[in-house]
Amino acid sequence: MRKILITSKVYDDSFDLLKKDFELIIPETGNFTNDELIRNIVDCEVLLSMFTIKIGSDVLSAAPKLKMVSNFGVGFNNIDMKYADEHGIVVTNTPDPVTEPTAELAFGLMHSLCRRIVELDRDIRIKDKIKWGLMQNIGSTMTNKTLGIIGFGRIGQALARRAVAAKMNIVYYSRHRVKEEIENLYHAKYVPMNELLKMSDFVSLNTPLTAETTHLIGKEQLALMKQSAFLVNTSRGAVINEHELAEALRDNVIAGAGLDVYEKEPVIDPLLLTLNNVILVPHIGTATRETRQDTAKMACENILGFYAGKQDIHRCGKW
Ligand code: NAP
Repeated sequence: MRKILITSKVYDDSFDLLKKDFELIIPETGNFTNDELIRNIVDCEVLLSMFTIKIGSDVLSAAPKLKMVSNFGVGFNNIDMKYADEHGIVVTNTPDPVTEPTAELAFGLMHSLCRRIVELDRDIRIKDKIKWGLMQNIGSTMTNKTLGIIGFGRIGQALARRAVAAKMNIVYYSRHRVKEEIENLYHAKYVPMNELLKMSDFVSLNTPLTAETTHLIGKEQLALMKQSAFLVNTSRGAVINEHELAEALRDNVIAGAGLDVYEKEPVIDPLLLTLNNVILVPHIGTATRETRQDTAKMACENILGFYAGKQDIHRCGKW
């Protein structure tokens, strides 16, 4: 029987779809370590990997029969794609299930920042810290404000849908302009990135992590933003220079930030941890029960589709 190595335990039944045709190697809890991956992958034709687990050439090269990596998650910057492409290994990802929940989180961070929900929740628990009254605890509203979306793909557009409902104005930047029908759907205007940074009240990062997007936002870009603006990152940590963001937040260059992702997860820049104008959550963009189940299903379907010779599996590499 063909073997599949699965890097991490999800729910007990998450990978049952594969059991009829494959022998599954899954950790009892948590994740396999890198050494365990190297040891266990030897006879496997498929690796099913979580977006949080680094899959380097040391792991891929330990499996002479490896045909496919089915990544659980849409971002695949965890995989050594150069090695996979050079060795004819098919790589797939799971775009659809993660789109709406990640946009939900980005929108939630925007809300929490401008209405100071997290900050005020923290303070109300401390005796006499909160002052009550008409002119206390004032935030700002989203209505009629401008949201700048950098990376106007699936998640960026799902965020735009929510922003339209909140009566926001939308501008976006990506390397290519989207079709006019899509722009019209969200009344979204395409602008150069620096213009977007200057004019937006909220900036959301929704690009993949690539060589080009690494440190796309740093000191220079933050200086272009309005002092009253908020930055939200649900893409990948290294799209921002984290320490430069922390310094900008400390110096009130911008009003606040909401972060789901970090440059060196799970380590967070210590300066960020001391600041009140940043909301920090531990990479929970897709952490809902429904999403985990749907993502596992799509990761399984990609594998079954690959073996059935289907063309519509979600390939993200060269093959
Ligand atoms: P997508 O549909 O491929 O959209 C990505 C967008 O980024 C596209 O509009 C693309 O347009 C743009 N882009 C790519 N390179 C760019 C560059 N150098 N400068 C500006 N724009 C650029 O991907 P998605 O499904 O929306 O997911 C986006 C990313 O979100 C994923 O790659 C993943 O890393 C992250 N994510 C995070 C979580 C979480 O838990 N926080 C969950 C899901 C996904 P052009 O090609 O025209 O530039």
